[in-house]
Amino acid sequence: MSAQILPHEVLLDDWFVALREVEPGSPAAFFDRDGTLIRNVPYLADSDEVCLERGAVEALSAYRRSGFAIIVITNQSGIARGLVTPAQYASVNQRMINLLGADLVDAIIACPFHPEGVAPWNVPDHPWRKPATGMIDAAASRFGVDVARSVLLGDSVIDIEAGLRAGIGHLIHLGTGHGQRDRAAVENLSRANPGTRISCLASLQSLEVEELAR
Ligand SMILES: [Mg+2]
Repeated sequence: MSAQILPHEVLLDDWFVALREVEPGSPAAFFDRDGTLIRNVPYLADSDEVCLERGAVEALSAYRRSGFAIIVITNQSGIARGLVTPAQYASVNQRMINLLGADLVDAIIACPFHPEGVAPWNVPDHPWRKPATGMIDAAASRFGVDVARSVLLGDSVIDIEAGLRAGIGHLIHLGTGHGQRDRAAVENLSRANPGTRISCLASLQSLEVEELAR
């Protein structure tokens, strides 16, 4: 008997947008979107409101030069809640890519599911929704990414938690977006996992200094 395919499972391909091929075995830099690459605007639906965080282009370029794949992973509960249409979500991404530069992003993966959403998006505990690891696992599987040599950057504690659970080698918490709100929780997570490399930075601008100083 074949396993039952749930209605939301057939939709996952729509939410994994691969823009370029990745060399198998490459490490990846996993970037959260809102509050990390672009300014956090709750339930952002208007592409005219997209504004890059300072240092975003330089950060992506630094990882690109070092041979990292660049993969964006983003929770988008606004889609489940009916506040952002899939077309609006796509136009926001397109605007972000236009501002960043088309060759600096390899894939954008989103989780549109949320328990408080409307059908078919009202999925409790969806395996792609951070802090679950589904988006990272899907990228690792499709591109053959070396997860242990990878890095994850995000402004929320759930970003860092997802990276920790997935086994990503370096987790970078940024003070932009929800960063100030979640900084203490990230520091607690860091203390509870002494073997894990967790860096706390003010912004992507501070990252540039850290990466270039290696
Ligand atoms: Mg964020």
